Amino acid sequence: MLNIVLFGPPGSGKGTQAAKLVSKYNLVHLSTGDIFRANIKGETELGKLAKNYLDKGQLVPDEVTIGILESEAAKHVDAGGFIFDGFPRTITQAEALDKYLASRNSSITMMLSLDVPEEELRKRLLLRGKDSGRPDDQNPEIIQNRIDIYHRDTAPAKGFYTNQKKYFPINGVGDIEAIFESLCKQINSAQTNS
Ligand code: ADP
Repeated sequence: MLNIVLFGPPGSGKGTQAAKLVSKYNLVHLSTGDIFRANIKGETELGKLAKNYLDKGQLVPDEVTIGILESEAAKHVDAGGFIFDGFPRTITQAEALDKYLASRNSSITMMLSLDVPEEELRKRLLLRGKDSGRPDDQNPEIIQNRIDIYHRDTAPAKGFYTNQKKYFPINGVGDIEAIFESLCKQINSAQTNS
C-alpha cells in the first residue's frame, strides 16, 4: 500500500495537491477537515461538537479525531492506499495512525510536508476566505491562532516521521503543477526504493 501523510500548515496547499495525487495514484483521500465540515453542514452530533473548535481555529480533541479517522478508513477495506490530509496533527494522532495501520498489516510510506512562509499563508487564507465561505479563513486572529497551534502542536509530528526516516520536505511556493511534480518525484523514488 502507498500511504501518504500530506502535511503542512493551514493554507499550504494540502487540499489542492491531495486532489491531484488521489487521481494520479488511485488513493483514498481522507481529510479530517473535510469530514468535520461535512458533519457541521449535516448538523450531526459530531458536527455540533466540531463546530466549537473549528470556528475558533482550535484542534478538535484527539480522541474524537482519531475515532472518526479510523471509522472512515475502515470503510475502505480494499483501498490500494490512503492520502491523509490534515491528519495527524499531533504526535498522539501520529502514534494512533501507526497503530491503526499496523492492525491492517500496513504502515505509512512517507510524510510529504509542504513548506510555505507564514506571510504567504496569511495572504492565501484571507484570499480563500473571500469565496470559500469558511468562517475560520475570514478572521486574521483565528488564522493566526491556527498558525500558532500548527507550530506548537502539529509541527512536532515532523520529528516523529524523521525518526522513522519518512519525512520529506517540499517547497510549497510557486506553480501548482511544479509543486505537484516535486511531490510525484518523491513518491516515485520512494516506490522504486521499496
Ligand atoms: P487547514 O489546513 O486549512 O486549517 P483543515 O480543513 O485541514 O484546514 O482543518 C480545518 C479545521 O478542522 C482545523 O483548524 C481544526 O479545527 C479541525 N481539524 C482538522 N483536522 C484535525 C485534526 N487532525 N485534529 C484536530 N482538529 C482537526
